Amino acid sequence: IYKWYRSGLNRWHGPGSTPDFQDIIEDRCYNYTQRIRPDSRSRNCQEIKQAFMSAFISKDPCKATKEDYRRLIDLADPTVPCNKRVLWSKTKELAREYAKLRGLVTLEDTLLGFLADRLHWCGEPGSPDLNTWSCPDWEKDCRTNYRSVFWEVLSERFAESACGTVQVVLDGSLENAFNEMSIFGRVEAPNLKPMVTLQAWLVHDPGKPPRDSCSGSSITKLKSILSERNVRFICRDNLSRDEFLGRF
Ligand code: NAD
Repeated sequence: IYKWYRSGLNRWHGPGSTPDFQDIIEDRCYNYTQRIRPDSRSRNCQEIKQAFMSAFISKDPCKATKEDYRRLIDLADPTVPCNKRVLWSKTKELAREYAKLRGLVTLEDTLLGFLADRLHWCGEPGSPDLNTWSCPDWEKDCRTNYRSVFWEVLSERFAESACGTVQVVLDGSLENAFNEMSIFGRVEAPNLKPMVTLQAWLVHDPGKPPRDSCSGSSITKLKSILSERNVRFICRDNLSRDEFLGRF
């Protein structure tokens, strides 16, 4: 029984594909291109959905490559301004709220980020269907799963095409606000263009003391990654959520 279980659709340790994945992608695509950003009305949602599906359907869910997503990326390249970008690590909701208040954008405000936010997806070799039972967990099963590779490709492009001042919202209640192994640490920070300025905000959770600061060792590591790339760095720490959002 164990062998059957492990060889079947239930063998991965992550959540299975989101039910109605295709319909959600389609609905979100129409919502984004027609309501949220009507300047992207000319995008073809059917084509985008097809390109998304064919990136991973019938394939080994642990053998994703950036190449698999090339067609999708080409169809839906971000049109958000390059000088208004906000990155985050462990602070998604706060960063999104900040971006909204200031007229800035996070990756989830681009078409592909918006389509895939909070969804799970994977296929199965030899099957035309999504696996709704389980998908590979990036830590327990494989790093090269379709969801991880998707966010890595998207994050890389979002960071490397940024210009002017880029902001990053970090969690100052953590011992290491900057984590070299996170997507921000591995993929976004090392792909910022020279001459960009990165403005970091260390914001602590309500009711928690600040644990890391701009002079702590994790931020020092971030500084060294950036200085090798000639990216300027500005950092502010010891901010409560309300101070950061500008409400006192
Ligand atoms: P984080 O540690 O808060 O991770 C963000 C989310 O991605 C979490 O749900 C985490 O479990 C997951 N995650 C992290 N690394 C992963 C991986 N290799 N494979 C699969 N899931 C992974 O922050 P982070 O890692 O620094 O990523 C945040 C940055 O990257 C943001 O700036 C954003 O632009 C981008 N991003 C967004 C999403 C998203 O779900 N919207 C996911 C990953 C990355």
